[in-house]
Amino acid sequence: MTKSTPAIVILGQSALSTARRIQQVYPAAQIHGLAGRVEGADCSYQEFGATLRALYQQDTPIIALCAAGIVIRTLAPLLIEKGAEPAVLAVAEDGSTVVPLLGGLGGVNVMARKIADALQVSAAITTSGELRFGTCLLNPPSGYALADLEQGKRFVSDLLAGHSVRIDGAAPWLDQAQLPEDPQAQHSIHVSSAEREASANELLIHPRSVAVAVSADVADLSSAIRTALQQTKVAQQSLACLLAADHEMASASLREAALELGVALRFVAAQSDLEALATVAMPAAKVVRANGLAIAIAELPLDVASIGRPRGRLAVIGLGPGAAELMVPAVKAELARCTDVLGYETYVRMAGPFRDDQVQHCTDNREEMQRARHAFRLAAEGRSVIVVSSGDPGVFAMAAAVLEALHESDDPAWHSVDLEILPGVSASLATAAQAGAPLGHDFCVMSLSDNLKPWSIIEKRLDLAAEADLALAFYNPISRARPWQLGRALEIVAQHRRPETPVVLGRDIGRPGQTLRTTTLGALTPDQVDMRTMVLIGSSTTCTFPRVTGGDWVYTPRWYGERPAS
Ligand code: SAH
Repeated sequence: MTKSTPAIVILGQSALSTARRIQQVYPAAQIHGLAGRVEGADCSYQEFGATLRALYQQDTPIIALCAAGIVIRTLAPLLIEKGAEPAVLAVAEDGSTVVPLLGGLGGVNVMARKIADALQVSAAITTSGELRFGTCLLNPPSGYALADLEQGKRFVSDLLAGHSVRIDGAAPWLDQAQLPEDPQAQHSIHVSSAEREASANELLIHPRSVAVAVSADVADLSSAIRTALQQTKVAQQSLACLLAADHEMASASLREAALELGVALRFVAAQSDLEALATVAMPAAKVVRANGLAIAIAELPLDVASIGRPRGRLAVIGLGPGAAELMVPAVKAELARCTDVLGYETYVRMAGPFRDDQVQHCTDNREEMQRARHAFRLAAEGRSVIVVSSGDPGVFAMAAAVLEALHESDDPAWHSVDLEILPGVSASLATAAQAGAPLGHDFCVMSLSDNLKPWSIIEKRLDLAAEADLALAFYNPISRARPWQLGRALEIVAQHRRPETPVVLGRDIGRPGQTLRTTTLGALTPDQVDMRTMVLIGSSTTCTFPRVTGGDWVYTPRWYGERPAS
């Protein structure tokens, strides 16, 4: 079953309002709009066919607001190999019809019904088993797994051919179904965590009702877990999570085992042994020992979120300069999974929209250390926290503050947090790219703010960097509280550079109303610059030439001194 967030793809402006209604059903889904035709989508694409095929190949469920025929023709070349496929739906752009097209096992009919409910229309379901029985037996709800798909298909054909069925075990989701039930039937749907060969007339479904208590010391942990399950004759598909003592939270072997088995990892306070640990975590379950581990077996699927707690996560992310296209995919994924967002209000707003279940903690820009500690307190509770910076979080932003907070803490819970820094496109690089390649050779990045360092060291570095003939990128060039510093900085640079030296000023790059100007060191005055501006000053080799579209290209050649023969 596909679990990933769907993509909503639209071709024209008229589809946007229906797309937004569908987005309420899938809040993490992004609306992809055709560039030049759709304004106000979450992201834009150039070519419909290539976009749809790429989504399909990445196994992303697709909700396309256009004619079913267009979707079919576009994906046709990819359909021959019918393995696992994502759900694909066509929705009329006015929201009047929902047509599930592909991905019956990817839950397409479930999605179609959900979307149709939200749009208050009915879904065009055509799957015979589903129509007859009101449920797709081959696609049990989350918390259950089908033991064997091929066998399942035979079983459903048998029922369609008129056989009756009995249900063995707890299958609450089938209460609503219209199955031809008969307690004497030869065919049975058997729901249990027991591992065994299905008999000819049986549909085996495993509830995810089992947890294994483990310790990080066990060698080759994932195989040890598989062996323990085999010894107790528990189906691996019933495994829902691993349990471990919370002092082992940072263990890489636990993380790898959970990842390899595709299950959650939860922590509880250490106990005398693993059996006691399993019992504390799941008091109602039957606990058995196997292969040095303890297996807790419950009747119904586990509500993993209510067992112990997860390892907390703290991601310090960079949004890039502003435009959604310049945000790295890892950051987008992090924004979708987090439970808590911390950051300066402007950046938190830029990172949104967030779902109702995601808590936003907006703060003033200056309280960086307080924000970093707050983030660790939340993550140490088991939450999944992001700290938002613009550009790159490691460039005059939150990553260093977060590491400083961790460095000065001796709280083991803070050090056990899953900490990751996710990069972004920094303002100097975004500005340089728009101007051409002014940073194409060695360059020096400086913040002109003397809030956290003495002005004397700024002057010294400016002087030496300018003397070394490095191109210069100035962050925080000026502010109301620091009105004279930029003028002084330019005087120092002018001692080493000619007045014709190219200068690039990028303001609000990647944001609405962005401006890019090219000028020279001689013509540059501080009043042309504000705190939302990036200042790039060329070296002695930086040059400019006109673009046919107006303005200039600015670049610094890769070589220095003699131009190499080409
Ligand atoms: N972490 C950020 C920089 C934070 S310092 C990054 O990597 O981009 C803040 C300074 O960055 C601002 O004073 C301005 O000089 C520059 N800046 C940030 N975003 C910008 C943008 N979109 N356009 C131009 N300059 C920007």
